[in-house]
Amino acid sequence: MNEWIYNLPLHCLPSGSTEQIIVRTCEPAALPAASITQAPERVVAVQLLSLQADSEPLNAWMPGLPVELVMADPAAEFPLLYRHTPLLDQHPVRVVIPVRSGFYKAVKTAVALDFPVRLDMGQPSPVLIEELEAVLEFYLHQSTVAQPIEYFQSILLSFYHQAPVSLWVVLDENPQWLRYVADDGKGSLYGRLAGVNTTFLETNAGLDIWMEQVLAAHEQCRNCEFLHHCGGYFKWPYPDYDCAGVKRLFGKLQDAATELRRDLDAAPVSE
Ligand code: SF4
Repeated sequence: MNEWIYNLPLHCLPSGSTEQIIVRTCEPAALPAASITQAPERVVAVQLLSLQADSEPLNAWMPGLPVELVMADPAAEFPLLYRHTPLLDQHPVRVVIPVRSGFYKAVKTAVALDFPVRLDMGQPSPVLIEELEAVLEFYLHQSTVAQPIEYFQSILLSFYHQAPVSLWVVLDENPQWLRYVADDGKGSLYGRLAGVNTTFLETNAGLDIWMEQVLAAHEQCRNCEFLHHCGGYFKWPYPDYDCAGVKRLFGKLQDAATELRRDLDAAPVSE
């Protein structure tokens, strides 16, 4: 039996099923009246797809349930984050920011308001790699950044602890567990893997098998020094993507982890 988590729109809620779900909606006011309220243990998280929407109905609904605020246009939408700060009183809330031109300002606003951030990476162009490098500098060197910016935080820690974890896990896109239900009810793999034929895989294949046979099967991935932190993530959906820029970012995170370890090793041990 599989234990998939389904990311589905509110109007596709299956009745009587037992699967775990991530519910996405543009209408938070509809959630408290939805059938999932009767089975809260099935709900892993809610994704709010419109920052224009009034999230007030969620403030006291299912306290503790993780909420993601999903941005579409970060350069235009970042001022809308202010209206959603009351959610932080009752929920773990994270802002999903697509790596599109102008996203740096959205990241700064989110962390200033105490929101953790998950970058929605895509396959960034050289111009966006420059903006990512600026965000990484901000994350590494600004003492005011008190919230995690993913994927930077988890990959930095994985270098520091020498315990690799791949971007499929860090960015919540692990195909071992996650399935996507489109607005028309059709199911598929999630995100960048939608449409990929994986019928040759065993139903319960672990992430290591996925990596070996699908995710990181590209020749460049097999020889990549960051294979175990990336997992072939940036070769999807277009396998000819040039990874030079993202490798530079991995290298900076690796250097930062080395520096952190050196600093901590040199620090005096307190009694
Ligand atoms: S950085 Fe590029 S080449 Fe290296 S594992 Fe990731 S996708 Fe593959």
